[in-house]
Amino acid sequence: PSSAQPRPEAGAAVKAADRAHVFHSWSAQELIDPPAVAGAEGSYFWDYDGRRFLDFSSGLVFTNIGYQHPKVVAAVQEQAGKLATFAPAFAVEARSEAARLIAERTPGDLDKIFFTNGGADAVEHAIRMARLHTGRPKVLSAYRSYHGGTQQAVNVTGDPRRWASDNGSAGVVHFWAPFLYRSRFYAETEEQECERALEHLETTIAFEGPSTVAAIILETIPGTAGIMVPPPGYLAGVRELCDKYGIVFVLDEVMAGFGRTGEWFAADLFNVVPDLMTFAKGVNSGYVPLGGVAISQRIAETFGKRAYPGGLTYSGHPLACAAAVATINVMAEEGVVENAARLGADVVGPALRELAERHPSVGEVRGVGMFWALELVKNRETREPLVPYNAAGEANAPMAAFGAAAKARGLWPFINMNRTHVVPPCNASEAELKEGLAALDAALSVADEHTE
Ligand code: PLP
Repeated sequence: PSSAQPRPEAGAAVKAADRAHVFHSWSAQELIDPPAVAGAEGSYFWDYDGRRFLDFSSGLVFTNIGYQHPKVVAAVQEQAGKLATFAPAFAVEARSEAARLIAERTPGDLDKIFFTNGGADAVEHAIRMARLHTGRPKVLSAYRSYHGGTQQAVNVTGDPRRWASDNGSAGVVHFWAPFLYRSRFYAETEEQECERALEHLETTIAFEGPSTVAAIILETIPGTAGIMVPPPGYLAGVRELCDKYGIVFVLDEVMAGFGRTGEWFAADLFNVVPDLMTFAKGVNSGYVPLGGVAISQRIAETFGKRAYPGGLTYSGHPLACAAAVATINVMAEEGVVENAARLGADVVGPALRELAERHPSVGEVRGVGMFWALELVKNRETREPLVPYNAAGEANAPMAAFGAAAKARGLWPFINMNRTHVVPPCNASEAELKEGLAALDAALSVADEHTE
């Protein structure tokens, strides 16, 4: 109902103050025009002009149970009334309960939870833990990855657009993870891609010197870089290499975790257990900043009698943890993970494949659960991306036209380079998904105009 009440003057005031004083991330300040959000509920948000959008981006892929879930809002309010904050060196009910619920769901023996304020600092700490545990300096990470915007996290991120002044952190080495559609290994099948990617990784380890490698960090399914579901066997193969060379295996589940793939964690899709696993975003649907590292028994023991040198003032903040407890309980009670698995397999996947058949701009469809990407191309034969690789990250005409067409139809898409990701809330209904897919269909016709 609140969406039906346009309040353009209020919206203009919000925008004016934003323009004057908010410095926005990853943006050229004078070239952006951030929309003003008046409110949000479930899978939708709306602006001050009364325009409502179906959010197929889940914010930045974090509102896994949608906006303003009444149980999570109530839990945060209740916690604020009871104990709004407390320092990390105390046992606090919301924190210990959140840790228990998370540890119950993480794979294998990842039973100790180190809380952070978000995903990037979780990655920072996973790297620190791996280096201290092994006494080795190097971290291997994949090109075409995103691990966060802080010092170590941005340097392990495999995307030069993100490095900026942090480029070249000592001890970070990048390798190619499998991606058959744009294979670096001249592979023609998933099996070849998998085998050659593992061979390439082992060669990289050998030439770096196995005794210098502390960790291999991978997104279980790379998200921001394009939702490249790894071939069966790849992650198990990396696990074997880590065991063979005494390397800590870190899986980054900041985006893929907490129901996104139709499992609690994407690692469950592949039956792999890392030594450290980072999470954030979906852990509490992003209602209050929270992230963390789930730690294996073996690595936790390293810091049994020896202090772990690291921590944050707001580690395991009670409001954030109360939101996590409520979110995890909502996910369990309402079958959110099962919803993502079922509607991903029965509705979203088949619909996207059908769109790919009709729209020449769609080069490939990839994904699982509520975690999908459409790779848009100029030409399906050559696979030339619809827009060139743009190191400056500037807006580009074809994707901008595609985005505008989606928004004109009430769909808020997630666009990155030449891709649109389909990442709705994991509890989206079948009707909402069909509504968004119909808008996507229309918007793809605009992308088609840019094909040759
Ligand atoms: N790791 C992955 C896989 C992510 O997708 C992200 C954010 O998108 C991060 C880390 C960084 O998380 P945050 O932005 O909460 O610091």
